Amino acid sequence: MSLLWCAVFLWFGFISTHIPVTSAEVDPLSKATFKYYLNEYAYQKSKSQFRVLNSELIPRSSSSTCSLCKAGAAGFIQLRRIGVRKRTFVKVAKYVCKVAGVDDDVCNGAINLNVDALLYIIDNTPKLEAARFCAVYLQSSGCEQPDGYDWSINIPQGESVPVEVNEVPSKPLKIIHISDIHYEPEYVVGSLADCTKPVCCVNASGFPENGKGTAAGIYGMYGDCDTPWVTVLSTFENIAKNHPDVDLIYYTGDTIHHQIWNTSVESNSRDLNQLLLKLNESFPNVPVIPIIGNHEPSPVNVFAPTSIEEANLSSNWLYEVFANNLKSWFPSTVLNTLKQGGYYTVKIKNNLRIIGLNSNLCINENWWLLYQDWYKDPGGQLQWLVEVLLEAEKNKEFVHILSHVPSANGDCLKVWSREYRRIVER
Ligand SMILES: [Zn+2]
Repeated sequence: MSLLWCAVFLWFGFISTHIPVTSAEVDPLSKATFKYYLNEYAYQKSKSQFRVLNSELIPRSSSSTCSLCKAGAAGFIQLRRIGVRKRTFVKVAKYVCKVAGVDDDVCNGAINLNVDALLYIIDNTPKLEAARFCAVYLQSSGCEQPDGYDWSINIPQGESVPVEVNEVPSKPLKIIHISDIHYEPEYVVGSLADCTKPVCCVNASGFPENGKGTAAGIYGMYGDCDTPWVTVLSTFENIAKNHPDVDLIYYTGDTIHHQIWNTSVESNSRDLNQLLLKLNESFPNVPVIPIIGNHEPSPVNVFAPTSIEEANLSSNWLYEVFANNLKSWFPSTVLNTLKQGGYYTVKIKNNLRIIGLNSNLCINENWWLLYQDWYKDPGGQLQWLVEVLLEAEKNKEFVHILSHVPSANGDCLKVWSREYRRIVER
């Protein structure tokens, strides 16, 4: 989504800098630029309907990406600073989105969901600069980080002491790892599986007509459809039946569907509660360890600091939902860090400690990384990780770290990845 947003910002850039050309010249130029960004977006999403927007006017790997981004972001920030209202931003962003050929529902939903956080962050971060914005959102494109945004974690001197493993191995643990269910509550069997929206197999996709189009199957479809509930149930039943000797279940997040323009706190809470309850019920005698995925908040990827309590901005509801769905054997201390940033640690049998991270906080599409100085170890999670690992080392525990967003991929803030690596490699 970040590239789509950069496209929107670019228009604000054009508007605010009053490019001295006639409107007839602005239009093709702007459209070409958006096509370029949407092509990037399409490349990421592999969506056929966006592929047709492929532009030959601007190469996809143009070195001017960062300059374009900076011009657009500067315009957006500048317009807000001089008092342009929310409704104007929304109106222009929707217009741009539409001109670029994106589905109306996707434009309206994505813009409505994100605009409040963006404007709040600009309003409350006086030093926010366009270069910083682009260095975070387009870090994979090599946009340079302005000075003053580095930070590091205090790691104690010395090296980790290896834990001695018994000569005779005990029975290996059997762990089931479940992830990225992306449950689709609106899944409709028989609806169009190859529709014009980024996600299909729902009522809004329409239905095959006159023998044209593929109908959604009972248990799901390859391609652009998420998972129907019947498949979730079948999966859990199958695991329970075929693996009665399972010792542990790791659930590494992403319960929520891919209709990222169509999320809300209410529907995401409902779906999370439904899935986590079923997961716990399906394995009554097994420790189930769930962590949070980047699709869980509304809007997707956007995790606010816990100090942000405004209903339209806060992420605290998500941590509450997780806290309420942990099995009763979890110690109450887990709740402290869970409510502080969605992460926790719990000790399991056989001297095994699990650390469930909320690595989604480092995702470059999380607007809040631009908010004041929150980007420095967001949620205090990495410094906490150091303390937990140190204690585990003293107690000769083995540790498994669960996390949803991998460090060091293009999505995770580079400094966060670097510090995470320093910690685990000590
Ligand atoms: Zn994910």
